[in-house]
Formats: sequence, structure tokens, C-alpha cells
Amino acid sequence: MKNKSSKYTLDVKRYSLTIGWLYPELMNTYGDRGNITVLMKRCQWRGIKAEVKHLNPGFSISELKKCDLLLMGGAQDKQQEIVNKDLKRVKAPLSEMIEKATPGLYVCGGFQFLGKYYKEADGNIIEGLGIFDLYTENPGKNHPRLIGDIVINPMFELGHKPEAISQKQVVVGFENHGGRTHLGKNIKPLGKVLKGFGNNGKDGFEGAVYKNSFGTYLHGPILPKNSHFADYLLHLALDQKYKDFELKDLDDSLEWQAHDSALDKIS
Ligand code: GLN
Repeated sequence: MKNKSSKYTLDVKRYSLTIGWLYPELMNTYGDRGNITVLMKRCQWRGIKAEVKHLNPGFSISELKKCDLLLMGGAQDKQQEIVNKDLKRVKAPLSEMIEKATPGLYVCGGFQFLGKYYKEADGNIIEGLGIFDLYTENPGKNHPRLIGDIVINPMFELGHKPEAISQKQVVVGFENHGGRTHLGKNIKPLGKVLKGFGNNGKDGFEGAVYKNSFGTYLHGPILPKNSHFADYLLHLALDQKYKDFELKDLDDSLEWQAHDSALDKIS
């Protein structure tokens, strides 16, 4: 009979998280990869085993299905055209995961893909997954890109411990997009714009939320400066996997300094 070492027992009890990074080689502008680093580190610091699957064009559907949390970053229109071809192949399983409330963060170009379509400046249409009730249009060269630092106030409580929510709830980032996103009736915005442009520079809303999927224009990357949002995503993913999962607090004083200095810069 095999000797059951204590190490074996510990490993069995260990929590783990698989992060699926959609199209890392093509969709990764303005430091979006930093979001992955933050999620990995925050798991590691809590003793949670975290693994990242790089889901580049042609990835296997079975690998996708193993993921507990999905991320997709932004890109230039050219890269979006390439990714779009592969997204058609994986549309059904990916949509199914999103519908089943697999948590995910989709930034800028990634956010646009969740909608019905993205119309490029030259009129070319890139079809979206059509999961989020929204569409995006780039009005063309005579209209400026929406660029700059941005602060939003999420329209729901971020964080894994609602009692700890304070005015620090606001989320800071950097946006740079030509596309203007318009939300339909069946989708809620992620937040209200306090400074910056947001979805279209007009209606005062930023991003979108559907089930446990979050679309946003905030690069920067978004998660290092918004550890409350990072933990919110981790909480959703781990709680869904393990039920009533308790996410331990971390010392986030440095993260809040980064958050507050971004806030000071734009206020
Ligand atoms: N190509 C898209 C736009 O300009 C997305 C840009 C981005 O992801 N930064 O609207």
C-alpha cells in the first residue's frame, strides 16, 4: 500500500484556477497582458494554483472548456479581422460558456467582439459573437479617436466583501478606441463615466455586463490599478467552481496607491 504523505493530502485540498487568455498574440494592446499577471499573482499569494492557457487561433475547444475565467484584450482593426475568422469557429462553445455564466473580462477590441458587429472606419463590417446586445461603429477619419485617462463608477458593487466597499469603488484606466459602442435594451453598462469618454463619448456609460462577463474600454492594464475588480473576477470564478469560496484579503496598500495616483492625475 502506498504511503499517503501529508504533501499528497495538501495537494488534494488545493484550490486551482485555469485562466483562458483568448488570442494573446493578436489581442494584447496597451499592456493588457498585465491583467493576466495580476490574476496569477493574486492567486499565488493566496496559495491558489493558477494556470494560464494561451488560446491562439486554432486552439482546441476542449482546452477552452477547461477554463474557469476568460480574458481577451484589445487590438488594432487588422488583428481583429484575423481573430474574427477564428472566432466564427469557436462561436458556439464560447457563447455557451458565457451563457452559463463563466466569468470573463473583455477589453476594448475584445469587448467589441461580444456585440453584434464592429463597423470599421472604411465601412467594413466585422461580425461579432452577438452575445451582448450592443454594436460598435467607427465614424471615420474625420472623427477623433477617444483617447485618454478615464475614471468610471461601476453601477454595481465590486469586491468580494460588500461591507468593505468605500469610495474607492471607482475604477481607473486608459482608453484608446475609434469605435463608438451603443448598448441595446438587454444589456447593462459596467459603469458611469466620471472622467473620460466611455462607450461612445456621448451617453455617459462605460462598458457592459452580461451574466458574469464584463466588457470595458479600460486598458492600462485595468487590473493592476484596480485590485478590487481583480478580486471580484477571482471571487466569481472560484465561487462558481468551489461554492461559498472565501477569498482571503491581501495587503493592497501599493495597489491602492497606484489607483489613487491615477485618480489624482485625472481629477
Ligand atoms: N480597433 C478598435 C477601435 O479602435 C479597438 C481598439 C483597441 O482595442 N484599443 O475601436
